[in-house]
Formats: sequence, C-alpha cells, structure tokens
Amino acid sequence: MPRPRFNRILLKLSGEALMGEGQFGIEPEAVARLAEEIRAAKEGHELCLVVGGGNIFRGLAGAAKGFDRASADYMGMLATVMNALALQNALEKIGVDTRVLSAIPMATVSEPYIRRRAVRHMEKGRVVIFAAGTGNPFFTTDTAAALRAAEMGCDALFKGTSVDGVYDADPKQMPDAKRYDTVSYNHVLSDNLKVMDATAVALCRDNKIPIVVFNVRQQGNLARVLAGDGMATIVRSEGEWDARL
Ligand code: UDP
Repeated sequence: MPRPRFNRILLKLSGEALMGEGQFGIEPEAVARLAEEIRAAKEGHELCLVVGGGNIFRGLAGAAKGFDRASADYMGMLATVMNALALQNALEKIGVDTRVLSAIPMATVSEPYIRRRAVRHMEKGRVVIFAAGTGNPFFTTDTAAALRAAEMGCDALFKGTSVDGVYDADPKQMPDAKRYDTVSYNHVLSDNLKVMDATAVALCRDNKIPIVVFNVRQQGNLARVLAGDGMATIVRSEGEWDARL
C-alpha cells in the first residue's frame, strides 16, 4: 500500500538509542551515528525530535528504589536534557543547525519551550530538540512526543525502535510473531501492543497523527522510511489514512 508523503515530522528516540552497545549512559559513537541518520533524512523535511532519558534514569525505577515518584520523574526529565545536549552537539559537529527547547526552563543551557518559537525554528530549517519531556511528572517522553507532534502540527510521529515495526507478540521471544504493515490505534490499545504508552497512542488517535514505527538502528533506514520505502508499521485510523492518500 502506498504511504502518504510526510513533510513535517517528529522523531521520537528513546534514551537507549544513545547507549549503543552499552548498558548505561551515552556512547559518543552511537550519538554520532544517530546524528548522521538525522542529517541524511532531513533534506526536504521539517524535523523535530523528542529524546527520552531511560539510558540514564527512569522515574518508575527510581520510585521502586524508594525515591518519591514525582522527584524521581523530575530526575528522569533532567536525564533527557543531557541526551538532548549530546544530540545537539553531535548534530552541530556535522553542520546541522539545531535548537534545544526545554520544558523545564534552564536558561543557561537551552531555550525555554515556547510553541511559536519552535515552529519558527523549524520553518528556518533548524532541527528542534525538545528536552525535559512534558515538564510534568507521571508522564513519559512518548506522551511528550505525541503532545509536541500535535502542537507543531506534525504530519507524523516517527518512533525509532530496535525492531522493524509492530508485531502481535515480542519477535525477540516468539520467532513466528506476525508483523503488521498498518494497524489501527484502537487495535494497539485494546491488544496492548507494544508501540508507545496508552496516553501517547490515544493523543495521536484523537489528533489524527499517524505513528510510524521503524528500526532506527539500521543504517539509512530513517531516510528510507521517510521516503516511503523501508520496513515500518503505520498506526492510524482507517478514514484518516484514506483522506491523506
Ligand atoms: N518523564 C516525566 N515526564 C515527562 C517525560 C519523562 O516525568 O513528561 C520522566 C519519567 O520519569 C521517565 C523519564 O523521564 O521515566 C525518562 O523518560 P522515558 O522513560 O520516557 O525515556 P525513554 O524510555 O524514551 O528513554
């Protein structure tokens, strides 16, 4: 089935994508590779990014160890700022103009998140990196990605993962799991398919933002999927999809 053309997209990267082969933190080679992927894909598109923080700190894990959940979530949000700065650094080293906009104001390291300013940066061809999630505890960066995609008027939310789409079971555990080319938001929610958390999926559904799930670890894949080739699963609702073709 042909895919619609997406012009303005939001790319969600989990913190783990910056970890490379390591178990924790930021691996400069992995960040440099992601930056190259983004540069290659950027041509002809307006691009913004939300980056997670799971490679450094997750609120739920912190709460399980006894931290107050809200404080642990703020720590998680601060972790995303470190990742955003790492990505910005790698992108600017290869000549990609970027701006980091943080939902938690941090005047000396980033701009504060201001919606209209973010749109303006994108119109000028800059890659906007949204840091600190939504700025609120009890949320995830997946939800921040859906929220920013809606605010920015993005045509799609690209969710970079380590598998090539959405399956009916974990393909790493079940070799005969079935991969979907397209699947509806409601199917994802009712079968609890592992795409993004339910808040994020519902926000995309309600705002008619297709979610494109693809493997960001394969070299050149982001550009291929953006061009309408390459393996990916698209989460969407039937009517909205047809209207875009
Ligand atoms: N977080 C939060 N509010 C947000 C986004 C993130 O409290 O709007 C916290 C939460 O503790 C989360 C952590 O930041 O565990 C890191 O984000 P996430 O787990 O979404 O990162 P990813 O799994 O994408 O690396």
